[in-house]
Amino acid sequence: MLEILRRIVQEVDSAPNFQAALDILVSSVREAIGTEVCSVYLLDDRNNRLVLMANEGFNREAIGVVSMAMDEGLVGLCATREEPINLQDAASHPRYRYFPETGEEHYNAFLGVPIMNRRKVLGVLVMQQCDNRRFDEGEVAFMVTLSAQLSGVVAHAKVLGQLEISKGSRGSATQIFQGLTGAPGVTIGRAVVLYPPSDLDQVPDRAVDDVDSELLLLAKALNTVREHVRALDERMRGSLLPDERALFDVYLRMLDDNALGGEIAERIQDGNWAQGALRSVIDEHLQNFAKMDDPYLRERMSDVRDLGLRLLAQLQEQESEEIREFPDNSILIGEDISTAMLLEAPLDKVCGVVSATGAANSHMAIVARALGIPTVVGVSDIPVTSLDDAEMIVDGYIGRVYVQPSRMLRKRYKDIIKEEQQLTAELDAYKDRDAVTPDGFAVSLCVNTGLMADVARAKDRGAEGVGLYRSEIPFMLRERFPSEEEQRQIYRQQLEAFAPKSVTMRTLDIGGDKDLPYFPIREDNPALGWRGIRVTLDHPEIFMVQVRAMLKAATDLNNLHILLPMVTSVSEVEDAVALIHRAVEELQEEGEYAVTLPRIGVMVEVPATIIQIADLCRLVDFVSIGSNDLTQYLLAVDRNNSRVANLYSAYHPAVLRAVRYVVNEAHRVNKPVSICGEMAGDPGTAILLMAMGFDTLSMSASNLLKVRKAICLTPMAQAKALLERVLAFDKPEDIRAEVEEELTALGLIDLLRPSTSAT
Ligand code: PEP
Ligand code: MG
Repeated sequence: MLEILRRIVQEVDSAPNFQAALDILVSSVREAIGTEVCSVYLLDDRNNRLVLMANEGFNREAIGVVSMAMDEGLVGLCATREEPINLQDAASHPRYRYFPETGEEHYNAFLGVPIMNRRKVLGVLVMQQCDNRRFDEGEVAFMVTLSAQLSGVVAHAKVLGQLEISKGSRGSATQIFQGLTGAPGVTIGRAVVLYPPSDLDQVPDRAVDDVDSELLLLAKALNTVREHVRALDERMRGSLLPDERALFDVYLRMLDDNALGGEIAERIQDGNWAQGALRSVIDEHLQNFAKMDDPYLRERMSDVRDLGLRLLAQLQEQESEEIREFPDNSILIGEDISTAMLLEAPLDKVCGVVSATGAANSHMAIVARALGIPTVVGVSDIPVTSLDDAEMIVDGYIGRVYVQPSRMLRKRYKDIIKEEQQLTAELDAYKDRDAVTPDGFAVSLCVNTGLMADVARAKDRGAEGVGLYRSEIPFMLRERFPSEEEQRQIYRQQLEAFAPKSVTMRTLDIGGDKDLPYFPIREDNPALGWRGIRVTLDHPEIFMVQVRAMLKAATDLNNLHILLPMVTSVSEVEDAVALIHRAVEELQEEGEYAVTLPRIGVMVEVPATIIQIADLCRLVDFVSIGSNDLTQYLLAVDRNNSRVANLYSAYHPAVLRAVRYVVNEAHRVNKPVSICGEMAGDPGTAILLMAMGFDTLSMSASNLLKVRKAICLTPMAQAKALLERVLAFDKPEDIRAEVEEELTALGLIDLLRPSTSAT
């Protein structure tokens, strides 16, 4: 059964288009179960009707014609109940409805299984049979399993299918994709597809004018791969039998002009660049192989894939010799845009980012927010490879992407951009003000930094120091670990720029979704794996170099604080503090730099540290709450997974109560507490944090003025009353609604989003 399931899913997955996917589905299921009829009904979101989209077994003319409302027929019943309906004699059921177009009167047995994706009904998979019998338990279980496995594919194919319909029949109609907000703001620009090297599936289509030079690139790549295959054949002469070496001949023949080589060239002639042409040819062959039952031929799939990858490597090697052009107003788009990919792009030309994976608190999204680049993440349905150079609008407020926007839409978004500019200009009035509430309470507002570019923006906006310097960011911009001297210079710039104000430098926090290209950490469960202090304590040579560089950099400035990330246990802090002391002693002995012991702090990100906060406070000088990870671990929601993004909320009562507990406990033993997660930069949560009594709120420079304005206009007494009210609530959505109501009453709701957005 598992093998059949796998085959059907694979075939549907590799179908060339939406309709083919559904056709393959119904015919394979009908054959696998040995039933007479199999159909798929899909919900048309425009009119909320279930439309017959594919059928094997009865009148095919009915496809696209028969449809029913959700409260009609057995299919409607299955969709509204969201559970399987298994009937022996369908016609005697009160909800039975006869559709003459289908000719289904002969069928007695009926099994309907809903196709569900993210709690939403996408459609219904139906089997019917003449026999007067109930489908057995095994058949029902098979269909439920199949439907669950296919739901993601159907959701994806549905969007791609709509795309094709709109391309074909309505020319340049706007295509809309819904994702999650990554960084606020809206932008209009052109898509630049980014993809990791050596990943054939992610290579985009790209129109070229100069067909001849693409053909030349292809010819060179084919030649090199041929040479490699021949050399391999030669090397294996002694160790493989002639029969076994026949594979190399097969490879060479596949590269011929009348095989793959010619097909790729043809697609280049049609206007695609060599890499895109290669991807589409290999894709098509793999799809054809997938449909074959012959195991020998299916095995050939891996040869085709292997050749495809070899050719791609050659083409990409030639490409890397050229410098890639980014147009002004580039919108970076990719399956999985990492922080390193974003930072490697020419940021002065980048106006937006769209990533098919990720969620609001993915590291890349945090960096994009810090840079003020509107970003949408988790757009799982977007057909990345076909969007290179497409015109796009990115609405980071509501997590939406528009491809080929209409004139009307463009005009509307230009208005929003104008409104945003006006808002920014109004916020400028808060640049030189202190963050003091109308009833006289001052709050210290610091910034989170990582790049040198953050420094100028932070200073311009009157930051009172750096609450979090993410030291892993400069590490991401290199091809190896930076040396002690290189690090010293980088840290010195930060410390000098803010002196005498304090700069809290976090020791290297890699792992999770923060990867260094030259130190990849591959784990099944990275959020619970080798991260932050766990890595650096295992590699004291990395930790010591970094701490020594920080200490040296702070010479004569004495504004360095060191912060330890991802702490779980007291012993980790003891070990790290001991290493910091050792570094100070070493440097004092060496005598070149006049170093002093910095203040040392611990991050509260793991729930265990909340419970042991008193024990930890004894070992350090201050505490900083990393609410991004704390929320992830308290709620057991991967901050990087768009599928569970709706469960991730800093407004969750458990998060707010935990955070307040930490402030109170730390203050009881006279230790200052700051918060440096994204919660501090959201004007809504910021006023709650202010009411809790945090000593410092640290946020990205792009949020600094918004939060300062919110503080300047919210009396502490009012914030405290709001906090008491919301702490009694038991649901995040109720808390958020209450806070937004308060912001509206204070005239501050525009700080969350411009009034014209959020449609
Ligand atoms: C946090 O977890 O809240 C934090 C500030 O660290 P990062 O987002 O870099 O993991
Ligand atoms: Mg963290």
